[in-house]
Amino acid sequence: MSREDYEVIIGLEVHAELSTKTKIFCSCKTEFGGAPNTQCCPICMAMPGTLPVLNEKVVEYAVRAGLATNCSIERNSKNDRKNYFYPDLPKSYQISQFDKPLCKTGYIEIENENGEKKNIGITRIHIEEDAGKLNHDDFGGGCLVDLNRAGVPLIEIVSEPDMRSSEEADKYLKKLKSILEYIEVSDCKMQEGSFRADVNVSVRKKGETKLGTRTEMKNMNSFRSIIRGIEYEIDRQIEVIEAGGKVEQETLRWDDVSGKTFSMRDKEDAQDYRYFPDPDLGLIRLSEEYIEGIKKSLPELPESRKRRYLEEYNLTERDAKLITVSKYLSNLFEETVSKTKNAKASCNWILGDISRILNEKEMEPNQIPFTSDNLAELIILIEKGTISSAIAKKVLEEMFENGEEPSKIIEEKGWVQISDEGAIKEVVLKILADNPQSVQDYKGGKDRAIGFLVGQAMKQTKGKANPQMLNTMFIEEINKM
Ligand code: ADP
Ligand code: ZN
Ligand code: MG
Repeated sequence: MSREDYEVIIGLEVHAELSTKTKIFCSCKTEFGGAPNTQCCPICMAMPGTLPVLNEKVVEYAVRAGLATNCSIERNSKNDRKNYFYPDLPKSYQISQFDKPLCKTGYIEIENENGEKKNIGITRIHIEEDAGKLNHDDFGGGCLVDLNRAGVPLIEIVSEPDMRSSEEADKYLKKLKSILEYIEVSDCKMQEGSFRADVNVSVRKKGETKLGTRTEMKNMNSFRSIIRGIEYEIDRQIEVIEAGGKVEQETLRWDDVSGKTFSMRDKEDAQDYRYFPDPDLGLIRLSEEYIEGIKKSLPELPESRKRRYLEEYNLTERDAKLITVSKYLSNLFEETVSKTKNAKASCNWILGDISRILNEKEMEPNQIPFTSDNLAELIILIEKGTISSAIAKKVLEEMFENGEEPSKIIEEKGWVQISDEGAIKEVVLKILADNPQSVQDYKGGKDRAIGFLVGQAMKQTKGKANPQMLNTMFIEEINKM
């Protein structure tokens, strides 16, 4: 039997750090990257006798996430203690939600490999606190505990085992990330760990109705590793079954360097968390008006923005979809169009060169150092013929370096397009003299020869000559010959 005889089942548990200013049960700051243990207090350090107070914003953000993912919001829920020991958890329990999560039974729509729409079920979304961080001690050996992250609010979004390939898992995660960014509840910075996933994978023979035994890869925080990890687990599990063995239910760690998974713990040491309601915190009761109020305050989501772009800006389905994935890029697009009145060019710059540079520099869209005013100016300078699009690409690179205005860059670098007839004519005559074959080709009916000549002239002028003028003048001059 081969891989085609098996069906793959994937379910994801995503942890997203909420971007509230303060922690879930105290007023310490949640900012990332502070010096160790500078953002903690007796409550998040678990001093005896301290009492937690639930941050109302955390509930609001979780409800926003629930509404944006089609969940039903529970009117009554509560906080529970999940008991376990680990050095990054000073209370020896995590305050989470057990049997009464804030949000239940939602879904997210994705497109599968064949372009068909498919809903991925969401089992629940609950609120909980993050743990601290263990850092290796370079001087004394051993570990040092940093409690800045202890008590940072999280939502955990648990999916149904509805995904059937690594590609579907990838699409689900990207859609979920995009939604959380749109509703501004999490910055979803994967490299900072504010959007991370536990990936559950199992396989079963096609036609089988019972689920196979799953393994769980913990805390994955890059799309690439998630896809690689899933593919590795599928192959490994099928191999085990084909060899007559049984897949063990276990928790795994994915290692990016070796491209393999390693066992962290098996079912035998499955933990009993002894959940019970936290006696220090009251019940969470939400009124109908409260939930309605949040519903009304939700911004436009990527799906509806995409549909609007098809109508309003005449974008292609593909472009509309790509540009609405990031709220930041899609805002940049709308602002740029409002100034240029040129949707096509604005979209092309953002999905083309801007996205390419973001990728190369491994930057997030919100780190773009220039504004929509600058991008609009660049597009208008091309339209007016002040610069060629070849030069505009170089200007854009400069804008990424220093966030300066395009007109200033062009002036400083002396990149203004040559539109002076005399200067253009000089170049045209020289190129014609150097390329008699192309002249013959054009006269013989090969229109493409003009493109070659224009290309040569652009090279000669380092991209500064006005291409439309070159085009016209080449034709004029050849016709005279
Ligand atoms: P735990 O916290 O013990 O991992 P949860 O019920 O919170 O358990 O999460 C289980 C996750 O695993 C869910 O996302 C669910 O969809 C997924 N899952 C459950 N069974 C399977 C299976 N047989 N194969 C793949 N994924 C599974
Ligand atoms: Zn604190
Ligand atoms: Mg799990």
